[in-house]
Amino acid sequence: MSITSNIATTAAGIARWGLRSVLHRSGGALPGKIGLAIDPELIAHLADLLDASVVVTGTNGKTTTTNLIADAVSASGLTCVCNRAGNNMETGIAGALLEAGSARRRTAGAVRVGVFECDELYTTRVLPRLKPTHFVLLNLFRDQLDRYGEIDRTQDAIAAALASSPETVLVFNADDPLCTAIADRVPNPRVAFGIQGATGTETSRMAESRFCAKCNAALEYEYLQYGQLGAYRCPACGWERPELAAWAHDVSLSEGGYSFSLHLPGRTAEQDRELALSTAYNGLYMVYNIMAACTAAGALGADPSRFQNVLDAYVPTGGRMTRWRAMGRTVASDLAKNPVGFDRQIQQIKASDGRLMAFFLNDAEADGRDVSWIWDVDFECLAETPGIRAFVGGSRANDLQVRLKYAEIDAQIVENVEQALASVAAEPSEDDFFAVANYTAFPPVVADLKRLSSEGVNATATPIEPTAPGERATATADTQTTALADEGHAVSAVLDRPLRIVHLYPDALNLYGDGGNAMVVERRCAWRGIPAQIDDVHMGDELDLATADIILIGGGADRDQLAVAHELRSQRDTLGAYVEDDGVMLAICGSYQLLCRSYYMGDDKIEGLGIIAADTVRGDGRLTGNVAVKTEFSNDPFVGFENHGGRTFLDEVEHPLGVSVVPGTGNNGQDGFEGCLHRNLIGTYLHGPALSKNPDLADWLIGRALERRRSAGDAQAAALLPLSPLNDDRELSARAVAMGLLP
Ligand code: GLN
Repeated sequence: MSITSNIATTAAGIARWGLRSVLHRSGGALPGKIGLAIDPELIAHLADLLDASVVVTGTNGKTTTTNLIADAVSASGLTCVCNRAGNNMETGIAGALLEAGSARRRTAGAVRVGVFECDELYTTRVLPRLKPTHFVLLNLFRDQLDRYGEIDRTQDAIAAALASSPETVLVFNADDPLCTAIADRVPNPRVAFGIQGATGTETSRMAESRFCAKCNAALEYEYLQYGQLGAYRCPACGWERPELAAWAHDVSLSEGGYSFSLHLPGRTAEQDRELALSTAYNGLYMVYNIMAACTAAGALGADPSRFQNVLDAYVPTGGRMTRWRAMGRTVASDLAKNPVGFDRQIQQIKASDGRLMAFFLNDAEADGRDVSWIWDVDFECLAETPGIRAFVGGSRANDLQVRLKYAEIDAQIVENVEQALASVAAEPSEDDFFAVANYTAFPPVVADLKRLSSEGVNATATPIEPTAPGERATATADTQTTALADEGHAVSAVLDRPLRIVHLYPDALNLYGDGGNAMVVERRCAWRGIPAQIDDVHMGDELDLATADIILIGGGADRDQLAVAHELRSQRDTLGAYVEDDGVMLAICGSYQLLCRSYYMGDDKIEGLGIIAADTVRGDGRLTGNVAVKTEFSNDPFVGFENHGGRTFLDEVEHPLGVSVVPGTGNNGQDGFEGCLHRNLIGTYLHGPALSKNPDLADWLIGRALERRRSAGDAQAAALLPLSPLNDDRELSARAVAMGLLP
């Protein structure tokens, strides 16, 4: 070790000693921070403390997988060095190494194995220094896009990290095309794992872009597990899920959880193992986590015959996947930070016939400031639950309340989980309660449950009474449906040809919950008794706009835009004619860019449709954050969240949608303009989804569509104008919260 790293180690040791002995606090990130400040190469200098090591990354399951590997390694008699406390950045890994370094004198012959959870973007700092023997890549889903930008960027970072340590063995989830795409780019030796055969145990309506990493054609799936995970193949170039070296098969789900067989590769074929494993923790993602953990632990020298014991003894950390007895009932708590993770929780509530639930959503830095992703979660599947009682909390409770309203679930806002539990005190005690929260919203939920479970049943929180049917009719728009129907409005809303809402390419362009725009328009029609239907048009489908009333199209990563541009261009004449005929259309971000002339991405140029006279150029950095726009549609500003690398400059002839209230945002961050209004086509950079907190804009689209029909002689459409008002209290409260977030 150099003098600098010696000083770094000593200083960090003093800090750790001070924290522990004087302040009685655990070391936290401080020792690692001090150590790295003195010696930025500290991880490299301490790496030789380890005989073998693994770094675990991926969007979901990092902590669980890391802890399972560490448990398996320890259970096999090896000495384990691990950042269990969950600090998965450079400082946490340096801290764990420093801790191991302070116990330098090891027992003769003891093998020391490092097991480290690592944030995706920090892999570029950790891998070149640690040069681990193994690297586990679990999955890549949309998560904190305001921090990561687009998934491509995360992929680039991980690929660069692996290339900087080419001898590291890559253990990767081959069921995830986004992980395989990385494996195919790097020189590292590799071990592919996945599930063999369809499990059919869970449903999922969501996917990351399912496009070929080689040629951008849409992938075909023999079977899909959830998200984009499954057995895929590109019909155009033949790129496919690679052959699996480790695989789970005969996966089955029963009351007691998941059980499956795991084929583990040995050094030679004779050493291959077949393990029968089971886990009491639900969720197919656990099968993936276990598969990754066993494959990596086996490769690091852990004893596979101990894996089932490790799973039996496994206790998730920090209240994840935990069941409590609190206020007279069983409460299940879990963390969900992104759409795929949250969707898994909803599936589990549904599978358990859950009807009492609370969801908590914060938007702190660590959560991601953009909460649009909640619109990708399939709350709709809970809407029919008999006697459902749902509660929402957290700094963005209002956004969740609106989201649930559009899923026809009447959720009430609570201060905390205790208040939610107090509000269901009269419900049968055998009905379990489910509490799901995102990153920073989760610890307070766990702290409350811990306290309540030790205190017994004495609740002090004031219960929220369920809204009485009489109040509901006027209190919320959801119940206005009933009110309208009762008063016969629904009957008077005759429209022989329902309003046709064309949702264009939901399979390719739906980066930030933009699909929610279609739900909002459809529900706002339904609540007025106006027959409306959403018509999803996928890539490759025929596009017939003769009867279209509203077209909605979402945003996408640069790569998705490349995949969709060709398809969209082939519809140029159809779309162009629709727009020139005053067809109503809302295009968000990536698709707004594609409706313009061109999108320059460094050396690449995507040819657009030229319907809007404007060009987009990718700039330095991204324009990311909460935005408000002053428009001519409404006295209230149009609010949303932007996240784009492209800067759009409108030609003089085009009319901007509005002017950004916050300088440095909008089309290009320079001229103050946001979006474009071209006849009845609105292009905008705002996600949110855009219409969820801007009901007046949603109604503008509906009104324009009916107007267009009226001009064509449709008397039924004319009779629906002006639109009957709805109660938008919840939407406007969510908008007020968003306005309060503006810089
Ligand atoms: N890929 C585009 C950009 O970064 C659009 C992103 C989006 O739709 N959010 O500019």
